[in-house]
Amino acid sequence: MSRADDRDHDHDRASEHGHDHAHGDGGGAGHVDLPIAARVRRLEERAIAAGLTSDAELDAFLTRFLERATPVNGARLAARAWTDPAFLERLLADGNAAVAELGLGPADPAGQSYRLMVVENTATVHNVIVCTLCSCYPLSLLGPSPSWYKSHAYRARVVREPRAVLAEFGLALPDEVEIAVWDSSSEARYMVLPRRPENAADLCEEALTRRVTREGLIGTASI
Ligand code: FE
Repeated sequence: MSRADDRDHDHDRASEHGHDHAHGDGGGAGHVDLPIAARVRRLEERAIAAGLTSDAELDAFLTRFLERATPVNGARLAARAWTDPAFLERLLADGNAAVAELGLGPADPAGQSYRLMVVENTATVHNVIVCTLCSCYPLSLLGPSPSWYKSHAYRARVVREPRAVLAEFGLALPDEVEIAVWDSSSEARYMVLPRRPENAADLCEEALTRRVTREGLIGTASI
């Protein structure tokens, strides 16, 4: 089996994705040129100036959203998938519908839709997610993203040398396990479904949920 970095069968793969994906902001070149926080602030100021919202309203909205945005949500999806084969099938076929089924709420803070793609780790394929352009991430399922996820080093290197990067995270994968790197955008965001832990046959769904980490759902840890 070929190595992940040589593979060439999916246009969503980071290595071939390039920097042309839209990030839903209509910002054109500014997207790349300005730090994300400055861009967001500029948009907020425009919306406030146009009388569409206020600082207080934005703050209250974000607070409400972030209270519910936690990796426990992603962990619940994983635990349910491990214990319910029919749910696993639905989760892989239509992530958004599966999220709604568990009542995990809207997919992102603005309630805008993106397609949630859940990628399943197997004995032969390990998945890891990135946004090569900025920091697209399924926030409501994974909580606020770690700073390293947004770092230039991670975004650039995980595409070029995923095996080495994962080893630095303490995840040494056997050579025969292929690594698939998925590049997120505003339209499509990914969550990794880790492999069900071994020696967990007698664990209930709730106990399984507690075994899942944020890093497991990003793909930089095994679970
Ligand atoms: Fe992005």
